[in-house]
Amino acid sequence: MKIKYALVIFFTLSLLACKNDKKTDTDKKNSQSAELKITPIEHATMVLEYNGKTIYVDPTGGKEAFESLPKADYILITDIHSDHLHLNTIEAIETSTATIIAPEAVYELLPKNFRQQTEAMINGSKVDYEAFSIEAIPMYNLREEALKYHSKGRGNGYVLTFGKERIYISGDTEDIPEMRKLQNIDKAFICMNLPYTMTVESAADAVLNFKPMQVYPYHYRGTEGYSDVEKFKAIVNEKTKDIEVIQLDWYPNDSEK
Ligand code: ZN
Repeated sequence: MKIKYALVIFFTLSLLACKNDKKTDTDKKNSQSAELKITPIEHATMVLEYNGKTIYVDPTGGKEAFESLPKADYILITDIHSDHLHLNTIEAIETSTATIIAPEAVYELLPKNFRQQTEAMINGSKVDYEAFSIEAIPMYNLREEALKYHSKGRGNGYVLTFGKERIYISGDTEDIPEMRKLQNIDKAFICMNLPYTMTVESAADAVLNFKPMQVYPYHYRGTEGYSDVEKFKAIVNEKTKDIEVIQLDWYPNDSEK
């Protein structure tokens, strides 16, 4: 009888623990084993889903681009250019319960009705949400001829931490020291297009420096067409087997891929 009684208490307590909204050890364990789902939309636009939360990154493409996806709980914006900040899309999608996370330069460009729900982050700042924590990483050009595209301090790359998993989204940048010194990155989304960001060689060199577990080349359409992402993969693979390069379909609407 005593054992039965103890079991009933044990199961009741377990149920209560699961129902508790605050983070319990059980919940923490679940969030660590939850899987990150990545849906590329186009170029720099993607949707991340983790543990019931949906994050739109640089939403572009209008309402129809997100029709088959859950509505956004968070919207991350990296910079002011229209492939990252697309006001028509932000106005078209369901944002009533979303938190927008953006650099100050983007905050200034948002219509006033969006500002209340926007967290403006400067390079180096960090915010903890219940679902994840986020750190704003600088993104800027280094080559003299490209300095006009992205000045240091304006845009944000981001490192998102979900449980123990750390995701880096580069934004539009070159192989800056702040990228090279990143640590413990599980998945890295790395831009590589000309003339706006960097060559595949620079991207590969940076990646070999900070050694993420997995790399997703993204934002690789430039004025002269697509960057040679196969070459990027070959350079990385030649140097190490420890970094997996993952190719997703970032340009589903382009016929001349
Ligand atoms: Zn861009």
